[in-house]
Amino acid sequence: MDRIFPMTRDAGLDRLSAFLAEAGADYAASRNTDRGVQARPTTSALSPYLRRRLITEAEVVAAADSAFGDGGAEKFVSEVFWRTYFKGHLETHPAAWTDFLALAAADRTRLAAEPGLRRTYERAVEGRTGIDGFDDWVRELVETGWLHNHARMWFASIWIFTLRLPWALGADFFLRHLVDGDPASNTLSWRWVAGLHTRGKHYVARAENIRRYTEGRFDPAGLDEYPDSLDESNPPREIALPRADAAPAGPVALLLHLDDLHPESLPLGDARVVRVGGLVAHAPGASDPVRAADAAAMADALARAAAHFGCPAGPVAPDWSDAHPVVTAWAPVGPSADALPAECLRVRRSWDEIAWPLATRGYARVKKAIPQLLPH
Ligand SMILES: Cc1cc2nc3c(=O)[nH]c(=O)nc-3n(C[C@H](O)[C@H](O)[C@H](O)COP(=O)(O)OP(=O)(O)OC[C@H]3O[C@@H](n4cnc5c(N)ncnc54)[C@H](O)[C@@H]3O)c2cc1C
Repeated sequence: MDRIFPMTRDAGLDRLSAFLAEAGADYAASRNTDRGVQARPTTSALSPYLRRRLITEAEVVAAADSAFGDGGAEKFVSEVFWRTYFKGHLETHPAAWTDFLALAAADRTRLAAEPGLRRTYERAVEGRTGIDGFDDWVRELVETGWLHNHARMWFASIWIFTLRLPWALGADFFLRHLVDGDPASNTLSWRWVAGLHTRGKHYVARAENIRRYTEGRFDPAGLDEYPDSLDESNPPREIALPRADAAPAGPVALLLHLDDLHPESLPLGDARVVRVGGLVAHAPGASDPVRAADAAAMADALARAAAHFGCPAGPVAPDWSDAHPVVTAWAPVGPSADALPAECLRVRRSWDEIAWPLATRGYARVKKAIPQLLPH
């Protein structure tokens, strides 16, 4: 399988240019079709870069807009805002993440105690269910670290409703192997498929739909096509969006983390960066390829930061900040946020500052505001 994601900003920009020049024009019509790993993707495959902000949502959307003109990029831009929506939603419902972690831990304990469940789980994660498509997506995910969006939806739906496995174990499996693994998009998408995000509205994978959008590559039998959605007694509570800080004027030490690796465009005001440190906090249980991708992305960002700010840059070590105030990009809910030192100042990009407060309920509010949210 030959899908490779070199984890540098330049590679992300190359992929963006190639997408805009090739598949981009057909995006709205063909984005739901998954032609498999040997074919050119029908979507941008920019998620590993956007997830780490090696390239930013603002520049991707601006490039698509200028390539396709007024309205031509509408569907693509709307998809990019799904990412923003999920980020904002998790910031205001952080219990969705902590509950997921707790559920996954409890489900792993169940695996040890319940042999039937363990056998079904092992068959699923080893791609031995016998379900056409599902077993192939397991291999594709483990070997390439990426799946088409539609394959992710089918996979999650079959996992939950046909195999009747706990959704949190599926989300955990994705997070370990996806090279774009993201606490917000992953957790909330699994919750959405299960019918927990939009309560009672679940996503049901149907054989006819899989046949059609894989162009006949897969024709699974035995799917449960009429299941009930899942339910929960304590949905995650909404909290107020935590406030960001302003960067102080004068010399600062800039801390980079895996949620924002484009320090060149951070809103740093009159701060002068004199030191740069990199903090790598992987997703829980991240596979070796995901760890390698994280390390490569951080190395790329540190090298760019050293050149851009003209100062030393390297992994965080004792006294790396040289007693300067430490400033960092806002780290959304997830491993980076948990690993940041308490005393650092967290600045937020205007993209997030404007969109996140609209993300407390469904996507419609964000979607409606897109024309105002776009940088002018
Ligand atoms: C069960 C499940 C789990 C998922 N887990 C993740 C995850 O861990 N990380 C992740 O980045 N995405 C996740 N997604 C969302 C989506 O599948 C991927 O973002 C998308 O497939 C990436 O491919 P692309 O870059 O070619 O997208 P394109 O269609 O080219 O879209 C451009 C960008 O918009 C954003 N985007 C597009 N669709 C979605 C979507 N449905 N939700 C959120 N953002 C979107 C992504 O940043 C993407 O790179 C998940 C979806 C499902 C159904």
